[in-house]
Amino acid sequence: MSDIKPIYLQKVKQQNMANILQTIWEHEAISRVELVELTGLTSGTITNLTQELIQWGLIRESETSQGSVGRRRVMLKYHTDRHIIIGLDISRTTFEIVMTDLMGRVMKSIEGNITGISAPEQVLDLIEPHIQSMIAYANLKGLPVLGLGVSIPGPMDKVNGHLLSPPNFPGWEGYPIKDVLVKRFGLKVFIEDDARASALAERWFGLGRKSQDLVFVTMGMGIGSGVVSKGELVVGSNGLFGQVGHMTLVPKGSVCACGNEGCWETLGSIPGILRRWSGGDTIDAFFHAVHQGDKLANECLQETLYYLESALITLFNIYDPDVIILGGKLYPYLSMYLPEVKAHVKSRVYAFAQERLRIEPSSFGTSQNAIGAVALVFGNLLKGPLQVLTQ
Ligand SMILES: [Zn+2]
Repeated sequence: MSDIKPIYLQKVKQQNMANILQTIWEHEAISRVELVELTGLTSGTITNLTQELIQWGLIRESETSQGSVGRRRVMLKYHTDRHIIIGLDISRTTFEIVMTDLMGRVMKSIEGNITGISAPEQVLDLIEPHIQSMIAYANLKGLPVLGLGVSIPGPMDKVNGHLLSPPNFPGWEGYPIKDVLVKRFGLKVFIEDDARASALAERWFGLGRKSQDLVFVTMGMGIGSGVVSKGELVVGSNGLFGQVGHMTLVPKGSVCACGNEGCWETLGSIPGILRRWSGGDTIDAFFHAVHQGDKLANECLQETLYYLESALITLFNIYDPDVIILGGKLYPYLSMYLPEVKAHVKSRVYAFAQERLRIEPSSFGTSQNAIGAVALVFGNLLKGPLQVLTQ
């Protein structure tokens, strides 16, 4: 028994630290007395563990005056600029790397084009010098890098860190990306598919501060979502939870890559829109035609908005989130129609829920996935601080 006890104690310590870190995150600034009340931990445990977290450089003390008599009271806050997090987003045509502080505030960002490069090693060769220079900067400043978060088209085998069979992403099937990145950079590596990473960006750094139940819908070459319920990302038993692009909107419609027919993705993604329009081969050309008043393009747009509204109503009825957030490469083209979409969705949901229904644009625009990769590291830190902090 004697050799089991320390592991058990270490686990308890980590859980208690996680509890403290999450409570500070929720309140932004909090006193030790309030921590005792809110976490249920003893004041001795709070004193010891907050001291340790201060030594790690994760939190700091700050004095605030309290009440009319101006009595000083010590508050605990995140120490945002003592660590670096690196986020990497690899899409089918581009990559983006961001270096941020602990709270996901971008200090440096780099984007590049990888169109036509299908060998993962070649893509990583392009990316590597940028990440190495960020690591060098962190070393120079004496700031530990907490980890490298990665957002990439799914689906993936997260246990082994392999990509499964991402559609339209040749060369990456079965690629052991996690092991390769660990070997290249010597950092802790965390990987998530792009839709879920986007949801995590909102969970930790965006609208999730006020909402524990959110759905992030990303629309681009495909349509996917990340679902956060009670503050936790939901993945399902096959990792398919939130595959909203594959809900049937047209019975017996076109066959989809997933095996189903009439999926939203076959209708409302960029390729889906272009296939239905058949008047050109880029989304820019499509919206140009729309704005020129082209009749067929406008009919196709109205249909696209109707599919979007129908899908959002179904999402709202199934998941009952506080907020549905829209993003992805297609969203900027659709943003001007958002008020109309919201009004139609509201008119088609339960009357008592109409006032509560929120549909919002993504908080981080084109950097949503990369910030999501950073949020993935941050979320792991809050869940298992010792695992992330110790090498
Ligand atoms: Zn499908």
